[in-house]
Amino acid sequence: MSKIYDVIVLGAGPAGLAAGLYAGRSRLSTLIIEKAQDGGQIAITNEIENYPGQVEGDSGPSLIARMTKQAEHFGVERASDLIKSVKLEGDVKTLVGAKGEYQARAVIIATGAFPKPIGCKNEGEFVGKGISFCATCDASFFEGGDVYVVGGGDSAVEEAMYLTKFAKHVTIIHRRNELRAAKSIQEKAFKNEKLSFMWDTVVDEVKGGDAFGGEIMEHIIVKNVKTGELTQIDLGDDDEDTLGLFGFIGYNPNSSLFEGMLDMENGYIKTDENMHTNIEGVYAAGDIRVKSLRQVVTAAADGAIAAMQAEHYLSNK
Ligand code: NAP
Repeated sequence: MSKIYDVIVLGAGPAGLAAGLYAGRSRLSTLIIEKAQDGGQIAITNEIENYPGQVEGDSGPSLIARMTKQAEHFGVERASDLIKSVKLEGDVKTLVGAKGEYQARAVIIATGAFPKPIGCKNEGEFVGKGISFCATCDASFFEGGDVYVVGGGDSAVEEAMYLTKFAKHVTIIHRRNELRAAKSIQEKAFKNEKLSFMWDTVVDEVKGGDAFGGEIMEHIIVKNVKTGELTQIDLGDDDEDTLGLFGFIGYNPNSSLFEGMLDMENGYIKTDENMHTNIEGVYAAGDIRVKSLRQVVTAAADGAIAAMQAEHYLSNK
């Protein structure tokens, strides 16, 4: 019989790591399960400007490394596994992963969200071959090249600015003629001489070319949404030229595992203000839940509340 933990936290982004920290400090036996690297979206964010107390210029991965260390300091155990099914009803909850089965009396779901695809023709063929969703991971591949960024929110504009440190030039392709990003971020972007904007435009198609046997993205076809006009952007002729397309158009929730079990709205898990889902002993925290502001600070707060609610629930059992 495997160990029955007090709490299992699913996901090691800011919400999950904060939940682990608070559960660990409450002396609950706690396991955090994460399928990939810690940090979720923050692991692929170059600069966090608005987390209170964050050191200026410090990166997302660095913040996450400190959060992980802090949670582990309080005795939280870790498992690296992809959970494939869950049984959440009853006093003991079971999570079945690719590597094993895990049980706990309370579960905190902090599975976050993943980047939305750009939605253009042939996109799937060129992910990792010109298309990326992570500037921190892939910026260096486009050193001195031409980079296009899709989106108009905080992520698109901040990541585009980061990409200007590597690329020859960065162009933001936005479907409207004004940005959604915070005004302070916009002000910096409009001053950046290596950054320009293609307004009222979407990416229609991406294509390979002759040079690499069609393997690498060499053409981006964009469409003006007002006129319908199509324009082709080509990889330059020089051997050193590169062409990159980064998508930052929001996120989809990682909630399919809980469909039919937990109450949801547009794929996001519904909770009350104390992170309770509709199943006793099951909590949701961070970007996965229905909420008005998805930020590191609100994710961490959710995680803390969920862990303390789990502690009350277990001590009243
Ligand atoms: P977002 O705020 O939802 O912005 C998504 C952008 O992509 C919007 O400009 C949207 O256009 C565009 N878009 C959406 N679907 C599209 C499609 N199918 N085709 C073309 N464009 C599309 O997403 P985000 O920038 O990833 O930010 C997510 C959350 O994290 C937000 O709450 C944001 O404030 C937060 N965040 C904060 C920071 C920070 O404070 N430093 C950094 C990153 C993210 P429209 O404008 O026309 O809708």
